Amino acid sequence: MLPKFELYMPTDLSEACRLKGEGAEVVAGGTDVFVNMHGGKDRSARVVDVKNVPELQGHTFDPVTGLDLGALTTHREIELWDVIKQHYRAMFEGCSRVGSVQIRTRGTLGGNICNGAPSADSIGPMLVHDARVVVAGPSGEREVPLKDFYLALKKLDMGPDELLKRIRIPAPPAHSGSFYIKYTRRNAMDLALLGMSAYVELEGDVMKTVRIALTTAAPTPIRAEKTEALLTGKTAAPELLAEAGKTVLQESHPRSSWRSSAEFRLALLEELTVQALEQAIALAKEG
Ligand SMILES: Cc1cc2nc3c(=O)[nH]c(=O)nc-3n(C[C@H](O)[C@H](O)[C@H](O)COP(=O)(O)OP(=O)(O)OC[C@H]3O[C@@H](n4cnc5c(N)ncnc54)[C@H](O)[C@@H]3O)c2cc1C
Repeated sequence: MLPKFELYMPTDLSEACRLKGEGAEVVAGGTDVFVNMHGGKDRSARVVDVKNVPELQGHTFDPVTGLDLGALTTHREIELWDVIKQHYRAMFEGCSRVGSVQIRTRGTLGGNICNGAPSADSIGPMLVHDARVVVAGPSGEREVPLKDFYLALKKLDMGPDELLKRIRIPAPPAHSGSFYIKYTRRNAMDLALLGMSAYVELEGDVMKTVRIALTTAAPTPIRAEKTEALLTGKTAAPELLAEAGKTVLQESHPRSSWRSSAEFRLALLEELTVQALEQAIALAKEG
């Protein structure tokens, strides 16, 4: 049963920040918060529901500047948006694999980011698309690259009185492609045992830009920057992709859990690196 709590529903960003600063638990879709409260992990006596804060709402795409997503954008909105499938394939693959339709309809990108779970399905895709987050608080706004937003397990670069306001993602150029592979023990309603995201921009046969992100492979979602450097500026030959699969292992720190041993996660990392890169390259060739 949920414990008793006081509910606040501000329509003003500064009021929401003030309540958070005073210790109220922020809730967006509630698919993480209410599960934790129900299970006794979270005993917040005050809850601030931010769904009516206009600055956190809405989502737009501009072919030059890219995506501007309110923190309240849901996984389902991403999944059903043609623009995403066409230009941000990894995000489609990630968001459409979150929980069930019901969870995706309530769960937000802001909640997925701020919950800080290393397995979050939208994060790797947003990392390879070079997302930046806009954080707002009493002293104004600041924009932080998503790759720098995670400081440690469940620790974010966000002050007690700050809220995640928006997510900005550049427009991918022509001849670019991205892909996300979620490896799970079963097909429905399971968290990622490993998540692998890749983004490739081609100039002829040469990989001009490469970004790789790993989820459930370290205490926080991470970019595999050494592997990206190994691939950048080179032709996508099978031997090189196989080498990338091995280099990724040096950049990851998977742990053993009841879902999987660290050894199995390492074997997956090597294989899924190659598969995600191959898919991203194939899409870049089409685009
Ligand atoms: C049955 C089930 C299955 C699930 N399956 C998956 C899955 O497959 N993949 C996956 O990635 N996740 C999964 N989840 C987890 C969850 O649905 C996602 O993390 C979702 O995106 C959370 O969004 P929310 O809006 O519901 O977050 P909430 O529960 O409202 O909030 C989550 C956290 O973020 C904070 N927060 C929310 N918005 C903001 C903001 N704007 N600024 C600052 N802090 C904020 C809250 O305070 C809280 O700490 C599942 C959950 C359930 C219950």
